[in-house]
Amino acid sequence: MSAQVELLEGTPVALGGLRGMEVVRTLPSKQRRTVGAWCFLDAYGPHDVNRSAGMQVGPHPHTGLQTVSWLVQGEILHRDSLGSRQEIRPGQLNLMTAGRGISHSEETPAVHSAVLQGVQLWVALPGSDRDVAPAFAHHADLPVLIDGGLTATVLMGEVAGAASPARCYTPLVGAEVTMAAGSVALLPLEPSFEYAILMLDGAASVGGVPASPGPLVYLGDGRSSLSLTAGPESRFMLLGGEPFGEKLVMWWNFVGRDHDEIVAAREEWAGTAAGGRFGEVRGYDGPSIPAPPMPITRLVPRGRVR
Ligand code: MN
Repeated sequence: MSAQVELLEGTPVALGGLRGMEVVRTLPSKQRRTVGAWCFLDAYGPHDVNRSAGMQVGPHPHTGLQTVSWLVQGEILHRDSLGSRQEIRPGQLNLMTAGRGISHSEETPAVHSAVLQGVQLWVALPGSDRDVAPAFAHHADLPVLIDGGLTATVLMGEVAGAASPARCYTPLVGAEVTMAAGSVALLPLEPSFEYAILMLDGAASVGGVPASPGPLVYLGDGRSSLSLTAGPESRFMLLGGEPFGEKLVMWWNFVGRDHDEIVAAREEWAGTAAGGRFGEVRGYDGPSIPAPPMPITRLVPRGRVR
């Protein structure tokens, strides 16, 4: 039993370069690198995309992870080196499994709503599956749990018997929860999982802790339920999973296990305009994103807590 609560403050980051859309990154954080196998969390918006370019992230590679794209408002067009071309809208999941290597782009489509808001998450693949063949899946029909004023859409894993069809490689859960103003609910949890919530809209008491948009609220493990009381109408992401026991090297868009593997992935991306394990993204109107220089020191595998 270690149901400690920590507020993991986010860092503002310009996505895809200096003039890119601002996102707030709460994973990895100063204190923690993972929650379950969730290893990366960017939240963005609401952004007025009639006054900016919106999301414009050119082709870039990934290894050793799954990307989870989820929208609250607006649209994103995904393209990848498998030939996938898939727009997503709120309530739908784009799940890309990088495995041994894939490249993709994400952009605000030409025809779009005025406002964009969402989250981009990564899930680390376990050592046994990190070299699987790359794959892409679009899930437009996810299970929705309704209990009084609470509505939970299950992206990954299971909540109270409602199971997502999305493929997971470790025991984990991801859900979007909305609550009517003033509503109260008790959400069943898996005691062996650690959990965190990221409030996107509104404000709520979560296990007795006041939560509002900004920090990731880390809730620890050992809980069999979570008491929720909404202030105004509220929306949050619930993330959880079995604590990820493997040490990781996370650098740029790669999740690996050692320095040399990251160097090899970086060199393969730098050297291949097309072909190689990262393939080629077709149809994106703009340049690919070059990898930054490697740090001077060797990358060291790190555990889940700093
Ligand atoms: Mn990406």
